[in-house]
Amino acid sequence: MACIGIAVIVLLYNIDEIRGAPTKALGPKSVTAAAILIAAVLAIMVYDTRRKFTRLNNQAERVAEMADRLTVAMEALNDANADLRQSEERYRGLVETQDALIVRRTEEGRLTFVNSAFCDQFAMTALELEGSHFTPDVHPEDSGVAEQLLPGLGVPPYNIRYDQRVLTREGWRWIAWVDYAIRDDREQTREIQSIGRDVTARKLAEEQLKSARDEAEAANRAKSSFLATVSHEIRTPMNGILGMTRLLLETELTEQQYGYAGAVRDSGEALLAIINDILDYSKIEAGKLALQERPFNLVNTVEQACELLAARAVERDIAIGATFAANVPEFLYGDAGRLRQVILNLGGNAIKFTDQGGVMVAVSVTFESEAGVVVLFEVTDSGIGIEEDVQDSLFEEFSQVDSGSTRRYGGTGLGLAISQRIVQRMKGQIGVESTKGGGSVFWFMIDLAIDSTATDPPLDGNALRGQRILLCDRNKVSCEIIARSLSALGAIVSAHNDSDQALHAVAEAEAAGKAFDAALIDGVLPQQTITSLGEAVQKISAGQECRLVLLLQVDQHLRLEPYRQNGFEYYLVRPIRRRTLVQILTEVRTDDGEWLDSRLSQAIVTPAEVEAKAPPRILLAEDNRINQMLAEAILGKLGLETECVENGRLAVEAVQRGDYSLVLMDVNMPQMDGLQATREIRAMDGNKASIPIIAMTASAMDEDRQRCAAAGMNDYISKPIEVDELERMIGQWTDVPTVETKAS
Ligand code: ADP
Repeated sequence: MACIGIAVIVLLYNIDEIRGAPTKALGPKSVTAAAILIAAVLAIMVYDTRRKFTRLNNQAERVAEMADRLTVAMEALNDANADLRQSEERYRGLVETQDALIVRRTEEGRLTFVNSAFCDQFAMTALELEGSHFTPDVHPEDSGVAEQLLPGLGVPPYNIRYDQRVLTREGWRWIAWVDYAIRDDREQTREIQSIGRDVTARKLAEEQLKSARDEAEAANRAKSSFLATVSHEIRTPMNGILGMTRLLLETELTEQQYGYAGAVRDSGEALLAIINDILDYSKIEAGKLALQERPFNLVNTVEQACELLAARAVERDIAIGATFAANVPEFLYGDAGRLRQVILNLGGNAIKFTDQGGVMVAVSVTFESEAGVVVLFEVTDSGIGIEEDVQDSLFEEFSQVDSGSTRRYGGTGLGLAISQRIVQRMKGQIGVESTKGGGSVFWFMIDLAIDSTATDPPLDGNALRGQRILLCDRNKVSCEIIARSLSALGAIVSAHNDSDQALHAVAEAEAAGKAFDAALIDGVLPQQTITSLGEAVQKISAGQECRLVLLLQVDQHLRLEPYRQNGFEYYLVRPIRRRTLVQILTEVRTDDGEWLDSRLSQAIVTPAEVEAKAPPRILLAEDNRINQMLAEAILGKLGLETECVENGRLAVEAVQRGDYSLVLMDVNMPQMDGLQATREIRAMDGNKASIPIIAMTASAMDEDRQRCAAAGMNDYISKPIEVDELERMIGQWTDVPTVETKAS
């Protein structure tokens, strides 16, 4: 550019000369211009060359700098290389000196590395192994174990563990393998590294331990089986001793003889209770406790257990009863017999350790779903209580709070252990809350399935909604039980332990202009107190019906007539059944005093009606003469007519001929056993085939129950026969009145 510029200047400077003499030779002006031009061009060339030289110089410096840096990097790389070599040496040293077998293989199974332990174990060299597809022989019983786990290598933490027997040069050895996936930058599995440790010694020790444990368990089961058999065998003669003593006590005896016979009975009963505990415990220990999942009525089961305990509670002058929260369902699935056993154990203890007040069995639901409920049972007593530090050990076998109290209260120390085992078998929990001197709450919680096939109508949980009820019960526990039951059914309860307080409540109700729909009054109070309380309640009812209900004890003999004359038309025997309570407080009568609902006339019968009913006839099939006499005596005492036969063949003939309400069938009998006889009865025509048959046997094992049920028997009663149990059973299978309807 600069050259062109200078050339232009020179041309402009010479323009005249060029224009004026185009053909002449150049003048001095032109020579000067040319000289200037050449000088300028030269100057420019010198400048340009210098500039290029400077640039070249700079570049050379930069190259030298880079060369320096490269040298440093090279040195660092060399160092790193040396480190890597060292670390590889160390790693190789480590791997090679390991006892563990180490092998790496590609996903296709080609071995890429083996350590010397691996080579040694399989008696091959690294040269032979690396590059090959070698796999050790795996014991047939362990084959497939690793393959099943393989997908585990593809997911974090990218390793799997398994034990297998492989064939080594020492024979079959147990190897515990850990396989790792070695992954690249792109998270792809490159290789699989397996590390195996020989755990043969540990496996052998484990196997020995297991077989020793199995042997010990088998021995334990055999011992329990032996105990179960022995205690079962003892129960049979005990049946005779106790039964005959009871019969003896009913004959005419001198006072002294009566005392002796009574002592025989009491000792016999104590012995039987111990034998029963041992039998139960050994059955559980022998693994023979099979639960019977059947539909059952939860409310009935708990109420029946309380009724069985009532006699003992009354003897000690304490109360017992059950209450149910409003959401407790009636029809469930489970083992009602075992549930009753736990309630009887806990309730029996509660009675044993309570001198005043009473025992309340409260049932509630802690969780409910479509299919089932978690039911909480709380057995609360107002007894001696238990110190906190011994509470945990109570559920252990043969554990009792102290030997002093043991001597005073008796018992084997097995009841709670048995209850715990049963509850655990039902997948439930059991526990206690108690303070010394402050009573105890023994509780257990179990899952029960709802019986959705039940056809009986459930009780209306709101049946007493809005009813105002006055309750006067001198026993605080009984008062609380009844008040809770009434409230759970929707009633508004004014509950009192004292008749003066109750009178005061009546006066207050009058002042507030509120009448009572019913009054439940303790029959133990003096007659005068009861009738004046009844009068006061009726006085404020202003012509509306107010039901007066007398609360009686199981053993209370009271002339009801004077009370009837004073408006007490109803009575309830404690422990009160929930259904009866509702019926008494809600039943409607026609104008002429007849029961409107026919069910009620069956449920609430007067003593006169009980007597008027024809007693059911029972067929008793039993070959043992002593047992026959005993059963006959018990049935006679229950007011039942009995016919005896001594084998199954005769039982079948008797059912064919006669008209019986129920058969009590011994299982083991000559000629034809009870099972075959039942099968033949079930094959008969008409309604004879459906007669209730109750198995009666001293065998206490679950297999026996199952055999009886499979033959078509309806229920099972074990010998020695208990009067209460037999009565309950007969009540359940015939329409013989139950204990509740028998007060007079
Ligand atoms: P047993 O009653 O036959 O001795 P259990 O296993 O049923 O055996 O009870 C163990 C012990 O727990 C009893 O001996 C008693 O010391 C204590 N116990 C159980 N229930 C109660 C209770 N309701 N109140 C006070 N102590 C109790």
